[in-house]
Amino acid sequence: MNSKKIHLKSFGCQMNKLDSSLLAAALTENGWEMTDSPAEADVVVINTCSVREHAEQRVFSHLGHLQHLKKSRPRLLVAVIGCMAQRLGPQLLEHPAVDLAAGPEQLHEVPALLQQAIEERRKILAVTETIRRPADSPDVHTVSEKLDEFEVAYDSDENHLKSQAFIRAMRGCNNFCTFCIVPYVRGPEVSRPPKVILQQAQKLAERGIQQITLLGQTINSYRYTENGRTYTLADLLEMVSQIDSIRWIHFITSHPAKMEDSVFEAMARLPKVCPYLHMPAQSGSDTILKAMNRGYTARQYLDLIEKARSIVPDLAVTGDFIVGFPGETEEDFEATADLIQKVRYKNCFIFKYSPRPGTYADKRLEDNVPAEVKQQRNIRLLELVNKIAEEDNRRFLGKTLEVLVEGPSKKPHLNKAESVDQPQLIGRTAHDYIVVFNGPAELAGRFVQVRISKTSALTLFGEISPR
Ligand code: SF4
Repeated sequence: MNSKKIHLKSFGCQMNKLDSSLLAAALTENGWEMTDSPAEADVVVINTCSVREHAEQRVFSHLGHLQHLKKSRPRLLVAVIGCMAQRLGPQLLEHPAVDLAAGPEQLHEVPALLQQAIEERRKILAVTETIRRPADSPDVHTVSEKLDEFEVAYDSDENHLKSQAFIRAMRGCNNFCTFCIVPYVRGPEVSRPPKVILQQAQKLAERGIQQITLLGQTINSYRYTENGRTYTLADLLEMVSQIDSIRWIHFITSHPAKMEDSVFEAMARLPKVCPYLHMPAQSGSDTILKAMNRGYTARQYLDLIEKARSIVPDLAVTGDFIVGFPGETEEDFEATADLIQKVRYKNCFIFKYSPRPGTYADKRLEDNVPAEVKQQRNIRLLELVNKIAEEDNRRFLGKTLEVLVEGPSKKPHLNKAESVDQPQLIGRTAHDYIVVFNGPAELAGRFVQVRISKTSALTLFGEISPR
């Protein structure tokens, strides 16, 4: 056992956050001490994201700082793990600050690789040579088993908020949307056995977790065949629902082309499955959707939303959009704005297109929308999304909502008075609305009733209601 200090910095999506927390638990169990300060660390690990150019630039700027730090602390060891490590491989190792690069499929090996890098004092590369291979190849099976073992072993309390936990239902993606790097860095789609997911959910429930979110790049593609039976996402939702102390279940992210009614029916039938759907459209223009290889038209997407709302009437829908995709005209952009107006999303993430090396869009499509046009369109869509959310959220004024408390609010909301025993708390409703109110910090992890007295596009404000 050693007692060296390690600083772990994580970029990117919920999958990455989960990977980081599993790794932190594994390292702590192996005698490492976690530190928030890179300056006092013996090892710095950066868990990276490749989905947007901006995320990679931030990693490189971070590596620049570490290179500088290494001048005064030459024994500092720097590891880059995750999607960027898989994407760039040996190129990343050429960076003077980097000692170890390990991809997402090597997550379980990182503690041992760090030890090896320390002992041997040489650069180490651990990535998958051919990441795009069939999901049923023996190699994928072996890797999945090892990652599953790692996940079950290190899914500790520290990985989650007091009240809620994330469980990976599947890894990878087979969709090859033309803008997306994920299939090239996270490999083929593999669903985890329902038995393992259920065991994890059970264990978390025993520790007091009340909300579970099932994770997958296209969670509604979940399929696992065992003893002649194929389990789907609807089956998983049903199974997790049966755990007594779990109150709320979410699942992200849904792909419109893969959606089945059984998921909406499960939502309507099972009270614990929250009426919340994150289903990115990416664009409202059929020309752009085709160029993105999304597999649906705007009409099909709208019909799907209509059907979902006919089965689950109070469904809250969130989405992602890319503006400035190659060839996007003003007319295409207007079609996206039109779709947003029709769906009336609870909230959307809007991204400016940036080519990701190695993707179809990067190789075959010209990034021909000027940066200022992308910026303009980004602002216009954000304004539209916020306007809709602001209008729709007013319906909550005077209503009392059930809220699962996450804990003290990190961003102070200026309109709220705060006292030592009644700090500003943050929580979420079953529909994933953010609610801010004052109350004792001990409420973290508990359900409370909050009467809403003020609303904005992204946040609801209120007071704890005695009822
Ligand atoms: S569905 Fe498309 S956007 Fe989502 S991870 Fe897969 S390739 Fe990327």
